[in-house]
Amino acid sequence: MNVLDQSYAAALDQADSLASFRDQFHIPVIDGKQTLYFTGNSLGLQPKNAKEYLSEELEDWKNWGVEGHFRARRPWMPYHEFFSESLSKIVGAKPEEVVVMGSLTNNLHLLMVSFFRPQGQRTKILCEAKAFPSDQYALASQLRFHGLDPATHLIEVAPREGEHHIHTADFKAAIDKHGDEIAMMMIGGVNYYTGQVMAMEELTAHAQKRGVTVGWDLAHGAGNIELHLHDWNVDFAAWCHYKYLNAGPGATAGYFVHEKHHGQSDLPRFEGWWGHDKETRFQMPETFKPIPTAEAWQLSNAPVMAMAPVRASFDLVDQAGVRNLRAKSEKLTAYLQQVIEAVAIETDKFLEIITPEGARGAQISVHVHGYGKPLFDHLMAEGVIVDWREPNVIRMAPVPMYNSFEDIRSFGQILKTYLESH
Ligand SMILES: *Cc1c(COP(=O)(O)O)cnc(C)c1O
Repeated sequence: MNVLDQSYAAALDQADSLASFRDQFHIPVIDGKQTLYFTGNSLGLQPKNAKEYLSEELEDWKNWGVEGHFRARRPWMPYHEFFSESLSKIVGAKPEEVVVMGSLTNNLHLLMVSFFRPQGQRTKILCEAKAFPSDQYALASQLRFHGLDPATHLIEVAPREGEHHIHTADFKAAIDKHGDEIAMMMIGGVNYYTGQVMAMEELTAHAQKRGVTVGWDLAHGAGNIELHLHDWNVDFAAWCHYKYLNAGPGATAGYFVHEKHHGQSDLPRFEGWWGHDKETRFQMPETFKPIPTAEAWQLSNAPVMAMAPVRASFDLVDQAGVRNLRAKSEKLTAYLQQVIEAVAIETDKFLEIITPEGARGAQISVHVHGYGKPLFDHLMAEGVIVDWREPNVIRMAPVPMYNSFEDIRSFGQILKTYLESH
């Protein structure tokens, strides 16, 4: 049987115990075409229950005014606490190590106030070459904020000549070489461009052994791969909830601070009243007393309207189960690879998958040699939503919450038809 046969994909969909979750999402119909949506790595689709969760908060605000802080269905005063349990499972942490707050880049800066403290010889930051632009700007501006020059203080580890992924050995070699000059290592745990999953546990241990503080940007990791931030002994991490976690454009984000850093009054931190001890918060004492959890990094009371869709998303993740989602994701991505390889063979074209097979999440990035923007435009016109990076890389991620195997097969058929005549 051919992987591009309808019956082949149908059998895989039939065997999929999470198939029914697709109905819990709105799949966009654009210009009259039901889309094949493969950009859950950029903006996840809307869970149908998001509207209800948001309406409930608007209702409770209407009915209760300020009393909603205590009497809303989900009281706003402890609102952020309703996320901890679910989120702890998503990133592999204790509930007291994670918080839903703010936005990713904001949170990275706030965390670096505590975890990037250049001192003496240790003044440098180690990161990956061509990090996501916002991360590059954040790291460079942190260095300048401390009076340091990014040109000399940012150590970037790059792929080898002619390769796309970064070798774990090369990260380790850079850590060994610069060990006692590095104050902090901050890397994207899953590379946004190639989809490479970094050896987080191994690199965290390797860097910490040499006195380096370790943070991970998990924008492409949270809700995608299995994470064990607590067990890996990661110092801090931050991520967003609008990519694989389907909580809507610019959704309220999340962060992790390992419990070993909790309850320290002398740790530098930008502080606000929502990080202060809950017992005495409303006595409004002059001196800040940090909550002895990751909540100490919170600044403000919860933006409930912005957080309601995150609750909607997490409820679906809880129902599906993080492990089950990952298990399906591995099958979807393996099938996508098979389909791309089959199309390449049948059309005698060069489609190069640059995502390392042994270290990937949902995403696959494909170099479509000789096929530029016109191919992308064709896919879009056919209702295939993928992400295009100049000059000729397609990034796409089938996601286990709402993509089917048939989505992937249909994409393969559209790609094959185009390549056959071009
Ligand atoms: C998506 C993404 C961001 C986006 O940052 P925001 O603050 O949410 O706008 C930052 N870093 C990485 C690695 C990303 O993938």
